[in-house]
Amino acid sequence: MKPSQKERSAGAIIFSINGHRSYLLLHYPEGHWDFPKGHIEQDEEEKQAALREIKEETGISNIKFIEDFKEKIHYFYTGEKKLISKEVIFYLAEADSQEITISFEHIGFIWLPYKESLERLTYKNAKGLLERAEILLNSN
Ligand code: ATP
Repeated sequence: MKPSQKERSAGAIIFSINGHRSYLLLHYPEGHWDFPKGHIEQDEEEKQAALREIKEETGISNIKFIEDFKEKIHYFYTGEKKLISKEVIFYLAEADSQEITISFEHIGFIWLPYKESLERLTYKNAKGLLERAEILLNSN
């Protein structure tokens, strides 16, 4: 099957420091755990889309982006008999609070330290992103 549709989303690996560094993971209704992300609207900048989606999905509006991090992942999935080619751009950002208000799109959230986050994340490409984020943060 050739991909008949392309989708682009943007999101962020969000961490906060409360004694130690924790990462924010969302529990999707399909069962997987992943970072907040969502579709980039027409005429919307990637970072602007990430900010909007983070606000909608977590209630977090006060974040500080880590400048040197911008990563792209790609996957295919089948939606309503169509093969969809999807690209997601991820930023890395620090939240100043761990207070979360999740939207109807998710069934839960959790803040976890690096190793537990790596284990909890469902997809290999998301684990790869987290590994690169942790390396960058440890080098700063
Ligand atoms: P968005 O959050 O960007 O609005 P969505 O909720 O419509 O997107 P996805 O999260 O991309 O859709 O999920 C669509 C399908 O792709 C699901 O079957 C999901 O399990 C799968 N999927 C989601 N993330 C990944 C990933 N990182 N790697 C592989 N497959 C994924």
